[in-house]
Amino acid sequence: MHHALFSRRHHCPSILIPLLMFLTACSSIPGTTGAAQPQDDPIEYTITLNAPQTQMVDIAIVVPNVQGPTIDLALSVWRPGRYTVLDPAGTVTQEQAFDGTGRELPIEKIDKSTWRVQTDGADTVRVAYRVYANSLNDRTRHVDDTHAFLSGSSVFFYVPDRIDDPLRVTIEAPDDWTVATGLEHVPGDKRTLIAPNFHVLVDSPIEIGLHDVIEFDSGDTLHQIVIWGEADYDADELKEDFAKIVESQTEIFGGKPYERYVFLIHAGSGMGGGTEHLNSTIMQTRRASLEDKKAYKRFLGLVSHEFFHTWNVKALRPAGITPYDYSKENYTKLLWVCEGTTSYYTDLTLARTGLMKTKDYLKKLATSIGSMRDHPGTKVQSLESSSFDAWIKFTAPNPHSLNTTVNFYGNGSLASLGLDMEIRKASGNQASLDDVMRTMYERFPLSGGGFTPQDLVDVSSELGGVDLDPYFAKYVRTAAAPDFESALQVVGLELKFEPKKKDDDDDDDDDDDDDEEKDGDVDEDDEESTESDSEVEPTMKAILGLNLTSRNGATTVRSVRSDGPAFDSGITANDEIVAMNGRRLTTGDLNDRLEKLEPGDVVTLHIMRRDELRIFEITLAGKPDGKWKLDYVKEPSEAQIAAYESWMKQDWPKKKKVDIEDEDESESSTEE
Ligand SMILES: [Zn+2]
Repeated sequence: MHHALFSRRHHCPSILIPLLMFLTACSSIPGTTGAAQPQDDPIEYTITLNAPQTQMVDIAIVVPNVQGPTIDLALSVWRPGRYTVLDPAGTVTQEQAFDGTGRELPIEKIDKSTWRVQTDGADTVRVAYRVYANSLNDRTRHVDDTHAFLSGSSVFFYVPDRIDDPLRVTIEAPDDWTVATGLEHVPGDKRTLIAPNFHVLVDSPIEIGLHDVIEFDSGDTLHQIVIWGEADYDADELKEDFAKIVESQTEIFGGKPYERYVFLIHAGSGMGGGTEHLNSTIMQTRRASLEDKKAYKRFLGLVSHEFFHTWNVKALRPAGITPYDYSKENYTKLLWVCEGTTSYYTDLTLARTGLMKTKDYLKKLATSIGSMRDHPGTKVQSLESSSFDAWIKFTAPNPHSLNTTVNFYGNGSLASLGLDMEIRKASGNQASLDDVMRTMYERFPLSGGGFTPQDLVDVSSELGGVDLDPYFAKYVRTAAAPDFESALQVVGLELKFEPKKKDDDDDDDDDDDDDEEKDGDVDEDDEESTESDSEVEPTMKAILGLNLTSRNGATTVRSVRSDGPAFDSGITANDEIVAMNGRRLTTGDLNDRLEKLEPGDVVTLHIMRRDELRIFEITLAGKPDGKWKLDYVKEPSEAQIAAYESWMKQDWPKKKKVDIEDEDESESSTEE
């Protein structure tokens, strides 16, 4: 059966057909488990929302053509997109099993997420259960009197050996509620959804309730923006900006792997983050992100990120996480590509489309390079290790994590930048990471079992025209930051450390993992320093190596950097700092207080630890004070200009002797 979600009318049949086959016809692929079921005999689910105000959802699953004395049903232990065990089975209650005539059958649990039904000869088994759906921020399941958001892996039981069976989902909900999802519905019945198999159901969250729908076309493809949570947004602006992102990223991959796309948005306080799905995404954000211009710009980064995943991880996926195994952790050394390369294209897309000013992009890039270099874990954990251990490290951080782990999003993004530059350099700008991503997407359809680390090395080397394995060996398989000074020369950019001048009071945070952006703030006095920076002696700033937080009114140590003096002195996470040098220290105070001290000074810290007062004398260390900056090279070669223009999809700035702050002035007109 042809499933409408994936159509052949898009550009590249040779790529899309294998994907189509995987998504629609796994039950007929030889070698897949379970008896092939006829397409007209689906597993049926019913979602019943009789009392949504209680946050309960009743689910029933009817499995036809059952054979044997028992049948097992399971609930996923995790949700694709979040590499951590969530165990949603903990909120399942009132499980009951029946045969086709309504006679009750014995049901018992055989592990934390699996139920076994004694069939007693029945060829149809129905299992009903109730889910407490009060888990909004992990984007798994949430029900109240305004809506139901149901992400398949967290609410729908599946039959492990019939995961490729076609499915049908019927929704019983209040009359005025509507259904939004990437799934197709039965013609004429918007409350009956169909999915070619369980993988598609899992990757098509369902939003049912009171929400707004905005629609736009990109090419001839329908895109829907669905907003739950009241917000005073500008629909035309959303359509226009989302379309720019869709077009720019489609151009990289040469075609869309879907026939319709749905952006689900939850707007409200305390929300943030998004999850990619097959032909939809769920994005959560503060209401301000749709109402306030600056917050909105940041929100577009989330849109750009999640949408890029439509290809990178949803259609092009590493071996080890395709097909998903819902019963346990799924391992890959390539999350740095899934998340890091996606993060690289998140901002690059915004810069290419003009949704982020070029100077803001380059400024953010320089800042993140500085953070990567300053982050102690960068010297300890490789990107492959960070990817593989995501389940026990990245998603389960402890106060020491900053010293021993890297973030495969941020560091993966910069390794992707380094790789992009390496490919451009090696190929004389004949190829780029864009080409590698497109080629990978073409060559590794989901039906092929995913790509390996070696596949990526091979495609990169092939397109780059030289063996790029040394790059991967050095910066992906080993813990290290790429040589960005040299890499960025390829596109005519100069990376340098700009020392802070003596009486400059623009203070940088000592806090390592503070990733707060300060978009839009331009330092007016940067211009004069560009000429003389080579002679400026870097000012050293005094450091303790502590990250503080305020907890129940107490100034508390959140983490201790292993490369700072506080670590060796024995300050530990969760210590309460009462005073520094005899005066109360508050969380926000630390940097200001350190500013007045010099490296080599000794400070006295009064600390409460397990209700005991402890006193520590610590000699402050020092590190160069200043910030990383990207400038255009003064006399770019033709090759640098060409590489820059194909990278940023915009002209090299016109003025000859220009730096990034100057360029800002001339470009401010692009922001409407
Ligand atoms: Zn992501």
